[in-house]
Amino acid sequence: MDYISTRGGAEPLDFEGVTLAGLASDGGLFLPREWPQFSEGEIAAMAGLPYAELAALVMQPFVGTSLTEDELLELCREAYGRFAHDAVTPLVQLNEQHWLLELFHGPTLAFKDVALQLLGLLFEKFLARRGEKLTIVGATSGDTGSAAIDAVAGREGIDIFMLHPSGRISDVQRRQMTTVRAPNVHNIAIGGSFDDAQAMVKRMFGDEELTARFRIGAVNSINWARLMAQVVYYFAAALQLGAPHRKIAFSVPTGNFGDVFAGYVAAKMGLPIERLVVATNVNDILHRALSDGDYSAASVTATTAPSMDIQVSSNFERLLFDCGGRDGAAMAEQMRGFDTTKAMRLTDLQRTGAAGLLTSARADEVEMAQAMRWACENTGQVIDPHTAIGLHAARLQDLPRAVPIVTLATAHPSKFRDPVEQATGTRPSLPPRVGDLFAREESCDELPGDYDAVKAHIMANATRSAS
Ligand SMILES: *Cc1c(COP(=O)(O)O)cnc(C)c1O
Repeated sequence: MDYISTRGGAEPLDFEGVTLAGLASDGGLFLPREWPQFSEGEIAAMAGLPYAELAALVMQPFVGTSLTEDELLELCREAYGRFAHDAVTPLVQLNEQHWLLELFHGPTLAFKDVALQLLGLLFEKFLARRGEKLTIVGATSGDTGSAAIDAVAGREGIDIFMLHPSGRISDVQRRQMTTVRAPNVHNIAIGGSFDDAQAMVKRMFGDEELTARFRIGAVNSINWARLMAQVVYYFAAALQLGAPHRKIAFSVPTGNFGDVFAGYVAAKMGLPIERLVVATNVNDILHRALSDGDYSAASVTATTAPSMDIQVSSNFERLLFDCGGRDGAAMAEQMRGFDTTKAMRLTDLQRTGAAGLLTSARADEVEMAQAMRWACENTGQVIDPHTAIGLHAARLQDLPRAVPIVTLATAHPSKFRDPVEQATGTRPSLPPRVGDLFAREESCDELPGDYDAVKAHIMANATRSAS
């Protein structure tokens, strides 16, 4: 399988190449040249497999010859063996039609562990094979950072610099990053929003001085391997609910459009998905784009669902490219326009292509709290603010009764204890696997939201150069 850039100007790479590269050299994002397909019979035969075996089967066509089947299965067993639930991503029924897919049983309590635990192992395998080193730079609105740091702390050949918007993430999120004491882990709190931090990281990938000295790697969902790993749980959930003989809908709390794009990929591969609901908070650029074609960035409002406080959704470009006829030159042109004006219109082809599968909804803070309360009072489930936005959007859908709708539960409620307690009166306790988080010492550098300052800091503190 080879991978092409959404902007048409980069050399195609194999799976190992795109995993290490992250962003394409022309500023675009990598996508497989074509979507692998599973027949109805092949999907039916997946029912009942343990999660790691299902994962290896679903991902093998994307991995191609970069790993043998045995190597891939072994990595999946190791990555998913660290989860605190045997099913890895268990389904919980809320009522006749509504389900939750609990994606938060990994080491850092958010769905990002599902992909990053595997990505850490892929990095280590590919770097050892090549005898190379990797300098990871990432931006986090909270959960990517902790999951990425957990996945690579202490691993050979990898340095990680993680930027987060100072004061805009929860205490638990911050401590999960800053209390990891490993010489290859560097936390940076910057002034500004997540979008500012993400823009800096994107710029670093095109910075010749940095890229001449370091091989820069990505752990944000611009990295294809992350999205690939997330495709698996759509299969796992749908199979349990009767796929391929029954259609399933999903509601996905969305920020950078990675998680929901993985659902789109699952549908492209043949999984019978009736509808994918893109659920946003008041930072609703994706809701506006999907409902009336207006993709224009407003300023970011801080909410109690900080991992969704995003206005520029990197992975949306993947959808627009795929729905819009896969025209790299046109995509590059459209994105250049967006970079200058921070606004663009979707083409008719993009709109109709997206509308075939995707719909959207937004929840404000009141609606989010109501959804948390509804779940608690009517189903006994305590859910986190991000999940609540997904559930709010799911409950707005008018689906045939035979179609179950699965809301992706993206974080453990204890990661956001204050808003959960405010809405439900219940203060969720941290699961034992996070241990003495609040007793550990923190380590983090505070920097202004200034590109040159952050770059100088990285140049001065990276311990390893690319060989
Ligand atoms: C990252 C995150 C999201 C958004 O996921 P995207 O892939 O960026 O759309 C939603 N909820 C939680 C808890 C997250 O950590």
